[in-house]
Amino acid sequence: MTDAAPTATAPTSRKHLLLVGGGHAHLHVLHMLAQHRPSQLDITLLTPDDWQTYSGMVPGYVAGRYPLDACRISLQPLLRAAGVHWIQGRCTAIDAAQSEVTLQPTAGSDQALQHLRYDLLSLDTGAVFDPQRMAADMPGVLEHTLPVRPIDNFAERWQSVVDRQQTVHQPPRATTVAFIGAGAASVELLMAAHQRFSALQPRNAASERTQLVLVAGGGDVAAGYTPGVQRRVLRQLQRRQIQVVRQRCVGAQPGALKLEDGSLLPCDAAVLAVGTHAPRWLQGSGLALADTGHLRINHFQQSTSHPNVFAAGDVATRADAPHPKSGVYAVRAGPPLAHNLLAAASGQPLKAYQPPARTLNLLSCGTGHAILSWGPLHAEGAWAWWLKDRIDRAFVARYASAA
Ligand SMILES: Cc1cc2nc3c(=O)[nH]c(=O)nc-3n(C[C@H](O)[C@H](O)[C@H](O)COP(=O)(O)OP(=O)(O)OC[C@H]3O[C@@H](n4cnc5c(N)ncnc54)[C@H](O)[C@@H]3O)c2cc1C
Repeated sequence: MTDAAPTATAPTSRKHLLLVGGGHAHLHVLHMLAQHRPSQLDITLLTPDDWQTYSGMVPGYVAGRYPLDACRISLQPLLRAAGVHWIQGRCTAIDAAQSEVTLQPTAGSDQALQHLRYDLLSLDTGAVFDPQRMAADMPGVLEHTLPVRPIDNFAERWQSVVDRQQTVHQPPRATTVAFIGAGAASVELLMAAHQRFSALQPRNAASERTQLVLVAGGGDVAAGYTPGVQRRVLRQLQRRQIQVVRQRCVGAQPGALKLEDGSLLPCDAAVLAVGTHAPRWLQGSGLALADTGHLRINHFQQSTSHPNVFAAGDVATRADAPHPKSGVYAVRAGPPLAHNLLAAASGQPLKAYQPPARTLNLLSCGTGHAILSWGPLHAEGAWAWWLKDRIDRAFVARYASAA
């Protein structure tokens, strides 16, 4: 905890800015607040952890290249420098008419406050796996697979998957780890896992190695990328002899995934890396939402229904310029969000922000090789991995030393 606890009701003379979620864009907001320290503003950050796990480096952690700590940005130095009070917990509801957030303290937190009033609210909580939708679409997956969201949870539990693959079976046998989902995160994690297991089992006979399987569903592998990038991804999977199952996973049970044709895919472990959803707690908030349930925001990163609510990252959808949900877009939205929060607090005009039409994407194939794409252009090589590694480390270092 930092500084004094805020009151449940915002004081009338000063304004209360409530930041919910410690995502990519809010890192920049905290950085800017540390530089400007607005005197008429009480600022609170509500988030479950006082660090941010940088997802771009998580495949490198899975591959065994980075320790988990190297992928985390501690928020405490930024909070101290910005004079921001941290409340350890999760937002579970918003009442936009009352300008009030309901929170659930995280296990281990000494926080008792259940409601927080705000004058200005900013959301950067990322996207989630909606447990109710998961349970309906794929019964058993929540119990019998390791979901990649929340990413902290995944990162902490990944080591137990690695440890289990080290178990010596009598008689010796091959083990299988399946990855469910054909998006970029799933294939990056899969190729990272391949590298990890190859390093751990260098002398195992093929019959005793960990086999990796991609349960890709009926659509494209690396959907959302151009056909050229998709072909490159498929070649990299083939080179690693990774089996691609072109069926949807429709459920899970101990030791197996259920596929849409009714068959079972036996596996020793499964990682769930399918597309994400909007958080359910936005529903009933009174805030305008997109069809997908994400917060609808305008060119100021501001709610289209409530001018004192702002957002960035995967929790929101730009009504005027919809773009893919990715860390790159969340990072880019940080500076305009920070500017507009301070402008709104001081009654200054807001600045419009136009997200870029295309972004540089670097898809890692284990560590040591990556596929670069920018619009229709694509290329791959060790140099692309080198570039990704440099960009990612620089991002973490920037905020680690920002305070
Ligand atoms: C393995 C993996 C690799 C990826 N690699 C890339 C990549 O290389 N490039 C790229 O552009 N994208 C990548 N992505 C996608 C990227 O992770 C997301 O698009 C990005 O994290 C979204 O950022 P955000 O700021 O919206 O939220 P997040 O980074 O998800 O941060 C959300 C924060 O809010 C907190 N929070 C969550 N719920 C609540 C709540 N209810 N109340 C309070 N706080 C809450 C969380 O603890 C977290 O601190 C990857 C995703 C995965 C899974």
